[in-house]
Order: sequence, then structure tokens, then C-alpha cells
Amino acid sequence: MSTVPKIGFVSLGCPKALVDSERILTQLRAEGYAIVPTYDSADVVVVNTCGFIDAAVEESLEAIGEALAENGKVVVTGCLGARAGLIREKFPQVLSISGPQDYQSVLDAVHAQKPPQHDPFMDLVPPAGLKLTPRHYAYLKISEGCNHRCSFCIIPSLRGDLVSRPIDQVLVEAEKLAKSGVRELLVISQDTSAYGVDLKYAPREWRGQLRQTRFQDLAQALGELGIWVRMHYVYPYPHVDKVLPLMAEGKILPYLDIPFQHSNPRILKRMKRPASGEKNIERIRAWRAICPELTLRSTFIVGFPGETEREFEELLDFLDEAQLDRVGAFAYSPVDGAAANALPDPVPEEVRQQRLQRFMEKQAAISAARLQHKVGSVQRVLLDEVGASVAIGRSSADAPEIDGKVTIALGRKGRGRKAAITRADASVLQPGDFVEVRIVDADEHDLHGVLAA
Ligand code: SF4
Repeated sequence: MSTVPKIGFVSLGCPKALVDSERILTQLRAEGYAIVPTYDSADVVVVNTCGFIDAAVEESLEAIGEALAENGKVVVTGCLGARAGLIREKFPQVLSISGPQDYQSVLDAVHAQKPPQHDPFMDLVPPAGLKLTPRHYAYLKISEGCNHRCSFCIIPSLRGDLVSRPIDQVLVEAEKLAKSGVRELLVISQDTSAYGVDLKYAPREWRGQLRQTRFQDLAQALGELGIWVRMHYVYPYPHVDKVLPLMAEGKILPYLDIPFQHSNPRILKRMKRPASGEKNIERIRAWRAICPELTLRSTFIVGFPGETEREFEELLDFLDEAQLDRVGAFAYSPVDGAAANALPDPVPEEVRQQRLQRFMEKQAAISAARLQHKVGSVQRVLLDEVGASVAIGRSSADAPEIDGKVTIALGRKGRGRKAAITRADASVLQPGDFVEVRIVDADEHDLHGVLAA
């Protein structure tokens, strides 16, 4: 019992509030929390408040004050929670405030303060939940939906506006994943750089410190977990600059997945792209000055309605200047329900396909040259597969599924002259291990190497 997390619960108000209390308590008990009758034996106290009339408000405020005085760790929910300003003004030290029926916020706040304990004999699922990815990497979804209205996209009409998960909820999940053996977190959303805008960057406590629900704070906090953190779907807003020092310091991976889609301002405007007015080449240069190791991945659409030959050539020039590492591209094709379908001046299908080919040829040469520059370097590699004579992994520049791989010759039958220099016995290696790899060769997509001596 001494290690079981314990909850104190004060339930005020009408039967509807009582039902909320019952639901929260049921979930907490199911997760293995004990419900205790005294303040001093509780790890955290939940106060479910009432705000119906002045007397009820008074009673609720008194209950919060008492719980704070007797215990100190207090989560407030219920009707008075809808007047968060009033509570925060009187009791700035409360851990979290949520309104009626917001069960998830209460559970998140309790988890952040005192995580549930995993019981390997009783629990049907592992602490990090069931995952479909290999054990050593996981996707971390930080929000759902999108506030933009790109003219070629129907995601906002399918999934609605941006709804961010509060930062403590995301960080508790990330921590659980790290504890369960995940070595790489892939941060995903529709617009990672807009994270928290909808919550007005609400601060939440994690590891005893207040963190704002925003991109920079998330990057900083994830960087404290000591595992690889890779950022996807970032738009080139000015505040993105603030995470580059974290990359240069090795806190998060020097990798940005930024869907530029085009370089020409007129086409970007027709696409209604976020951050379309940004000077992307200058921004890329500034990022590389801070973090020369930075890998940039992007996607583009060629042959968008109205794209002229001159504008397409401008895009090819952009590729030359930007020297992106990884690029995916599509010839524009209409999507049912997208606003772009109504745009005038469609580009003929044949021209779209030709432009796609020209685009891919240009980028293939750039990507291959950038990989060649890595020959001779030593890269830290996360292993995905280990065979008898070859292991396959990824460097900081390679996200799973979409980027390249690093093939590592084990033993004495590897590629290249230096392949005989191996240090580790291949039999001890396993997926999820980090190894240092000396790169001896590169092709269009992948690197090849040997374990660094
Ligand atoms: S393409 Fe545009 S509208 Fe669609 S999800 Fe991305 S940012 Fe949002």
C-alpha cells in the first residue's frame, strides 16, 4: 500500500457534480489509485467545486484553501472551475483548473503529479499503451486538426480546427514511452509550430516546473528525456528559430520536416499556405549558421493551377539555393471538395508530369551530393534491424519510412576497404541500440558504413 499512489477527493455541489466525481474516481481506481479519507495521507487532492450561488462559491473556495493548507497538491475541477481567473487569483498554487465534465484534464493533472503504477500481473496493457511501431520508436501526436485553409487540402473540413493536447499530457505520455524502451520520438500534428495557439499557450506543471503549451517549451522539455526527438510538420514561422539552439546543443535532433510546397509567393498565396510571406532562403541560411548539422526535409506540389513555366523554373532555382536534404514531390491533382479545384488556368496533365520529372531529377542530384559529403564522417545510428552480417539503421538525418537508411557491414565481409574495422561483436547488437558508424559509401538515398573503431 505504501507505494500505491493515493488520492484525496472533496466532492461538492449537485447530483450532476456527484456523477462527475464518481466517473473520475472510477477511472482513478481502475488505474490503481487508492482513495484515502485524510489530507495528509494523500499524494494529491482533487476538489470538485460548485459555482451555482454565492454561498456555493464561498464553500468551494474554502474547500480549496483547506486542501492547499493541509496537503498542498490540489487539482480543482467542476462548475467553479469555469471561473479559472477567480481561483487562480486567490490560489495561484493550484496544480490545474478545469470545468465540469472535463474528466480528462483532471486525470492528466493527477497523472502529471503522481503517475499511475504499472502492475505487470494485473494490467492488460503495458504502461505506454499498445503501439503499432517497433519498440524503439514511437509517434507522439501533439494536436489534432488545423487552423489553416490551404486551398488544395480538405483536412480542416474533415478534422476541424486545431485542438492541442495540454503540454503536461503530452509530456507524461512521452515519459512513459521513454521508460518503456522507446529511443526515438517522432512529433506529429498537422501544424507542429502552431502547437498551443488554441489553448493560449496554457502553462502546465511537469517535473516540478511550469511549461507553456507551445512549440518551444515542448521541444525544450522533450529534450530533457535523453532520447532522440524528431520534429515533423513544422512551418517556417519566426519562432521556429528558437528551437535551432536546442538542435545545435544536441537536445533534440537537428532535423526539420517543413512542407514548403512551393517557393513562388504568388503560387503560395494561391495555395493559401501558412507563413507564405516568409523569406525561406534567408531563414534556411540562418538556421544552418546556428546548426550546420541540420537536415531539412520538405514536400512540394508542382503544376498547381496557374503555375507558369517561369514560376516553375523559380522553384528549381530555389532547390539549387536551399540545398534540401530530403524532398518528396507531387504533380498537382484535384482533391474532392478542395477550394483549389475552382482556380482558373489549370496546368495540363502532361506538363504537370514533365515538371515533376524535371523537379525530381534536379533534387535527386542535390540529395545524392549531400549524402556524398557524409562519406568519411562518423554518424550516430539507431539500429532498426540486425542480421548476421548486416545491420540497418538510421542517422539523425533519417526519419523511419520516409527517409534513407544506413547499412552497416558487420564482421569482415562488409563493403569497402575499411569494412574490416569493426569493434563490436554483432551478436550483442539489437534493434534499438545506438552505434557509431564510419560512413564508407553513399548512393542516391542511403549511406553504407562500418562500426567505428
Ligand atoms: S495542408 Fe494546410 S490546411 Fe491542410 S493540414 Fe496542412 S496546414 Fe492545414
